[in-house]
Amino acid sequence: MIKPTPARTVGFRPGERNVFFHLLTACNLSCKHCYINPPQHGTVTLSLETVLAWLRCFSRPDQESNLILLGGEPTMHPDLAGIIRAAKSMNYHVTVDSNGFLFHDLLDRVSPEELDFLSFSLDGPDAAVNDPIRGDGVFATCTENIKKAVAQGFRTSLIYTVSGMNIVHLHRMPELVKELGVQRFFIQVIGLRGKPAGGMLSPETAWQVDPEHWLEIVPEVAARAAELGLAVTYPKVYLDPDEPFECAGQVAENYFIFPNGRVYQCPLCEDYPIHGFCMENDQLVKRRGLNEDRFFTLSIPEGCVMNKLLQPDNIEYLADGSPRHRISCCLLKQHIEPVRK
Ligand code: SF4
Ligand code: SF4
Repeated sequence: MIKPTPARTVGFRPGERNVFFHLLTACNLSCKHCYINPPQHGTVTLSLETVLAWLRCFSRPDQESNLILLGGEPTMHPDLAGIIRAAKSMNYHVTVDSNGFLFHDLLDRVSPEELDFLSFSLDGPDAAVNDPIRGDGVFATCTENIKKAVAQGFRTSLIYTVSGMNIVHLHRMPELVKELGVQRFFIQVIGLRGKPAGGMLSPETAWQVDPEHWLEIVPEVAARAAELGLAVTYPKVYLDPDEPFECAGQVAENYFIFPNGRVYQCPLCEDYPIHGFCMENDQLVKRRGLNEDRFFTLSIPEGCVMNKLLQPDNIEYLADGSPRHRISCCLLKQHIEPVRK
């Protein structure tokens, strides 16, 4: 067994701003674990004019902000190439998160210099694991387009969402990611939002992975991926006893923007109309009332309050009633730099 390379917890950095912008909710796929919830997030495709106005609203000309363009499938937006160029001119560091289908010839319409990262979602090391989750033929299309992007010189990353359906196959991913020529490997954890909020995956299988499985498998696979020369990021999930708990809603600047104008600070809240902000007349407006921000200040022994409310099954208790682990903010990450040989 490989001794895991110590991962560094990436604390929330004051002044860092992350803008997760869902340009549309439409998608060509119908993944089993899709977190998009059209009744809550809307069904419109934002016009180019509105996207640019909202980007201006969140930009800071004197400081780079991270922009992650999402959907649905963001490459289905006919103006994505223009949006990327405009965002770069507003001093954003731009990432596009795609399911791999790359509509509207994205690779021919932007250059590797214009896009900071192109990220692909893949949930299995082969079609037999990936396609039952993401759809027939998706593995083949996604890996083919990753190869094209790499060959054209784009910086690429790959996101693997760990769930009860695929955790036992995670160990086969590092070699595939390396072979595809991808630079960054993100291991993500399934959240009980959107479709997974509807219940168990099957009578035998839960969506979420228990702590033993997660802690036994994920850090070791991440360390091995770093040994292969990949930059690896994965969520902290379980805080060490001496680690402080921090809620990103209080100490960081993250905005999750949906096409219906809802703007959340916490992704766990996205299935509920408790967004802290909304877009009105192309301006960011703070909402009054009992919204997500009221939960951010609550201090409980279990760590994250929204996790306790929405995903209580991933908390285990000791005989004295105290939690076995405190659950970190879902936005807190562990990072391992590629091991250079
Ligand atoms: S690719 Fe993304 S948006 Fe599309 S169905 Fe899958 S999870 Fe949902
Ligand atoms: S996941 Fe929990 S800790 Fe993180 S922003 Fe949401 S409520 Fe705060």
